[in-house]
Amino acid sequence: MGTREHDHRSRTTWLVASVLVVCAAAPLYAEPPVGPAAVPEGGEVAPPPLPSAAATDSAAEILGPPAPLWGVTKFLGRDIAPGDKTQAFVVASESFAGTSVEIPALIVRGDHPGPTLCLTAGVHGDELSGVEIVREVFVGVNPRELSGMVIGLPVVNIHGFRRSSRYLPDRRDLNRYFPGNPDGSSASRIAAAVFESVIRRCNALVDFHTGSFHRTNLPQIRADLSSDRLLEFAESFGAGVVVHGYGPQGTLRRAATEAGIPAITYEAGEPMRFQRDDIARGVDGVRRFMRAFGMEAAVEEPTAPQHVYYQSRWVRVNDGGIFITERALGDRIRGGEVLGSVVDPISNHRSEVYAPFDGHVIGMAFSQVVIPGFAAFHIGIEPLATVGPEPELPATDSPAAAPAEAALSADQLDAEEHPE
Ligand SMILES: [Zn+2]
Repeated sequence: MGTREHDHRSRTTWLVASVLVVCAAAPLYAEPPVGPAAVPEGGEVAPPPLPSAAATDSAAEILGPPAPLWGVTKFLGRDIAPGDKTQAFVVASESFAGTSVEIPALIVRGDHPGPTLCLTAGVHGDELSGVEIVREVFVGVNPRELSGMVIGLPVVNIHGFRRSSRYLPDRRDLNRYFPGNPDGSSASRIAAAVFESVIRRCNALVDFHTGSFHRTNLPQIRADLSSDRLLEFAESFGAGVVVHGYGPQGTLRRAATEAGIPAITYEAGEPMRFQRDDIARGVDGVRRFMRAFGMEAAVEEPTAPQHVYYQSRWVRVNDGGIFITERALGDRIRGGEVLGSVVDPISNHRSEVYAPFDGHVIGMAFSQVVIPGFAAFHIGIEPLATVGPEPELPATDSPAAAPAEAALSADQLDAEEHPE
């Protein structure tokens, strides 16, 4: 179909672009200085050879040159040595009782030098699959075979997680407050604590989410694809679908990207559930990324085609009532086809929900009671059908930058319904 199939740029072009990126943004891959007290007795031991020269080249292109020293590093108030697999806590805020709130961090420091990969989940406290993905990655990584460091925050919104809530106790959405402000609202303070103590240490970030409120997502990566580096990062994950977007202001992904830290979101499934297939795909994606960028030994593996969407839209219902979907995640749709219907339970008035264009169902609501304007289907738009082969990268999830001629209203991706 019209999707763009994994067409990596030529090696030469990529190399030149990467060198420029590395020069412009250096040091992307820099460990904090290793002070004399942090170096183990006897000085630095020459690290064993890296698992794969090819993978190391790739990591250097994306993440910058390896750190010159690799030893004990200070992190979250602790000394973390090569080979350590341990836990620490981000002290984020005061609870109502005046006690500290601690956000758990899982840390693996490899025996070999390399970048720091961060994994965050549970920014929305009811989105559970990512919590399990981070746990499984942490359990599965062997520090003896790891080049670099993996930091996982399985439950960023610990308040929401305890209450099975997407939000913080004051109904604020933590994922609108990054990078945060230590003197701001409760949400802003939590965001600042996480961002300053953890995120700024990362050379790359994967933030895990699911659909929100009775909606579900086809497994997909979201990233700012105007960056070649992020396109490469997103495709290396191998989720199958990649969707362009900057992310709404205040999301962890956007704040990290704007701070120069390559960040992607893995979206899959629905909230309040642990979904085995989505979890397995997420764990596989992280490990594939780690192999692609030299953090683990590379293995020969087939690269599945990635469908890359530079534009996506929500299709909304125009009437209130009982919404019944007639589509499933992953369906290909044609403009004008019926996607579902809404029936008024009192008047029996029925209206159809039509596809406004060709595309691919990448997210959708389950059948439920809805009000007019409810976002029912998230459609990845076939590039050739609407925007031509080289799209100009409009912001698909920023209402302010939504194309004026869009068939749908400019609030098509408002904060409430955007599933990040
Ligand atoms: Zn979310």
